[in-house]
Amino acid sequence: MSDSQNATALPRPAKKLDPVNAGFLLIAHLLGVAGLVYLITNFNPYTLILAIVYGGLCGLAITGGYHRLFSHPTYKANAFLRAIYLFFGAASIQNSALKWSADHRRHHARTDTDDDPYNIRRGFWWAHIGWVLFDAGETDLSLVKDLEEDPLVRFQDRHYLALVILSAAVVPALIASLWGDWLGGLLVVGFLRLIVEWHSTFSVNSFTHMVGAQPYCKKGSARDSWLVALITFGEGYHNYHHRFPIDYRNGVRWYQFDPTKWFVWTLSKLGITRDLRRTPEPRRLEALRKTAEESASRAA
Ligand SMILES: [Zn+2]
Ligand SMILES: [Zn+2]
Repeated sequence: MSDSQNATALPRPAKKLDPVNAGFLLIAHLLGVAGLVYLITNFNPYTLILAIVYGGLCGLAITGGYHRLFSHPTYKANAFLRAIYLFFGAASIQNSALKWSADHRRHHARTDTDDDPYNIRRGFWWAHIGWVLFDAGETDLSLVKDLEEDPLVRFQDRHYLALVILSAAVVPALIASLWGDWLGGLLVVGFLRLIVEWHSTFSVNSFTHMVGAQPYCKKGSARDSWLVALITFGEGYHNYHHRFPIDYRNGVRWYQFDPTKWFVWTLSKLGITRDLRRTPEPRRLEALRKTAEESASRAA
């Protein structure tokens, strides 16, 4: 029986719908669909290119910034890159880096329990998007004291709403107005890009806790999925990541698709990032060997 099937028997803590989050999610999806229609009916190549570039920067802000820098200190980055991450992280509308990291550290510490914000045992839809719709109360910041020491992180958290409006709507509309397509900037670069990015991030919490192999650890639900890696800038190698969360790589082998790893590594050559942490190869191989042995003894 799978973890998710086991889950249905677990008691579910009562939670009430968060009208602000639920309302915004609904409106953003409707505007995203409007963006798709607009893109098809008023096609402008510059707007499409801007959406792709903006989406790429926002995606890296979540995977390279919120996840691999702020939530897990897998490397160090200079103030310029941290500021870029925090700006495009705000445009990704997934909460401030401080609160996102608090939730994510709790996810790692309490995986597959009721204390895990996106507990997969409550089912695919809960882990994917359901948990965002419900009021979880005040975010527990006790796990992110270190991040509160970063003035840039504090600034983004304090001025989060203003930064969201600026980075997700005003800036894309202003840039696209340079070629007379401010509405395309708002609908396509703002909202269509946003919902594509949301479902990419959400896939890490849902698909990679359900589908894929477990070569590094059988404990817990995290799995490696190259397919999810393709749509999440490399975050699909989630079994490895849960086993070795302080490694800046998720796709650890050279052929595994992990553009976030390549991005962070390239910036280290330019002096923008440093102190990239890697799991020593013998430890990785040991984890692989132990897990294979465990599987063999279970099968016997
Ligand atoms: Zn993580
Ligand atoms: Zn996970």
